Amino acid sequence: MIHGRPWLTLWYVLLLAIILAVFSAGIYLTLRHSLYANLDDSIEARANDLLPLVQYENGRPTLSANIAAASPDLGEQFVRVYDASGAVMFDTSGEAGVLPRDATGVRGALNGKASTGSLKADGEGFRVRIAPLERDGQITGALEVGRAMGDVVDTLTTLVLILAIAYPITLVTASFGGVFLASRALSPIDGLTRLARRITAEDLSQRLNMRLPDDEVGRLARTFDDMIARLEDAFRRQRQFTADASHELRTPLTAIKGQVEVALTRPREPGAYREVLQTVNEQVDRLIRLVGSLLTLARADAGQIPVASESVNLQELVGAAVEQVRAAAGQRGIQLAVEEGPSVTLPADEDLLLQLILNLLDNAIKYTPAGGRVSAGWSIDGGQVELWVRDTGVGIAPEHLPHIFDRFYRVDKARSRAEGGSGLGLSICRWVAEAQGGSISVESTLGQGSTFAVRLPR
Ligand code: ADP
Repeated sequence: MIHGRPWLTLWYVLLLAIILAVFSAGIYLTLRHSLYANLDDSIEARANDLLPLVQYENGRPTLSANIAAASPDLGEQFVRVYDASGAVMFDTSGEAGVLPRDATGVRGALNGKASTGSLKADGEGFRVRIAPLERDGQITGALEVGRAMGDVVDTLTTLVLILAIAYPITLVTASFGGVFLASRALSPIDGLTRLARRITAEDLSQRLNMRLPDDEVGRLARTFDDMIARLEDAFRRQRQFTADASHELRTPLTAIKGQVEVALTRPREPGAYREVLQTVNEQVDRLIRLVGSLLTLARADAGQIPVASESVNLQELVGAAVEQVRAAAGQRGIQLAVEEGPSVTLPADEDLLLQLILNLLDNAIKYTPAGGRVSAGWSIDGGQVELWVRDTGVGIAPEHLPHIFDRFYRVDKARSRAEGGSGLGLSICRWVAEAQGGSISVESTLGQGSTFAVRLPR
């Protein structure tokens, strides 16, 4: 019954016990106070009623006997009159006759001071009110009105009895209720624990899918589901990446193997071997590039590539990158231009940034037919610098745009491969941009050209 958190439960019960005890004591004391106050009020009122009825015989005060009859309940109430010397002149408690006198109270009254006090006789308690009797400014005696406390004591005893029974019952009920509610509230966490135990890298499809309110536990369960979803996605991408990488590596290896096997079927002229070796060499170049890119990405993922923060002059950087690809552009009959922006230096890793621009320029030249134009430039926009590479090439259809920065994603596999591409260039570009606190984006119209823009903080 008590789940997992016995200390919590124990503290809860203890706290409840204290609250209940304070509450019960509060009820008892309040009721006791008001019952006694009522009793005192009633005897005082009765005394006040009787004071004007006092008569004098030989100068000594007394009450007429029919006052006794006027007393509603003799068993519970009595009236006594004393003369100035303290002698009893009139007494309705006579039947009992054993009621002691409150000597101090009487003396006080004879000195002019009314008081309320208690008396005890035969185990029965009385509250008494003693008031001075006055005539012509002289104290002539005292009037005493008493009333048994039996009713009050009975009521208080009953209350104590009720509280004594209700206290443990309430405590036990509330404790069990509390434990039950707590275990109900925490039961989703048990579900979470069980699910977490079941989940492995191979089976991330499981979800809690609990329909819970938006409270702490509900949010925890949903966050947990979201986390598994993200993990599942990450694992899926990882598997996809491994599969794609293996496939990419196998293609040039298969080509090499094919060439070599054909060459070995029979003896050939030295020129033929040379040709084969050339193709093999090209494929090996491709493999080296591919493995290089894979290594870059793997190290980038592992956070192993140090990102320097040097002062980079954009004019020099873009100029250098354009010079490096000028020969390739010329061979393909593509016009190459730098559109200079304002003079800016920004903190960045120069080598990585150069790699990024070269990748973009390479792509622009690869995917632009002869006669086209490729340009690079930069501009300042608020606290950011925008570096761009624009071409008038084949463009990219809208459905491909969201994916082209994904690893191994290529719009036209055959074309990319023929150009020596692996589909990793733009993934590396994105990593470089993000590693420097920036971002990369693309705008493109099919058949008209593309613009890649890198935004970097200044
Ligand atoms: P690849 O090695 O195939 O060039 P990238 O990651 O550099 O790989 O680019 C991914 C894909 O994006 C390319 O295969 C190509 O389809 C598309 N692409 C990249 N740059 C351009 C561009 N300037 N014009 C048209 N398509 C482009």
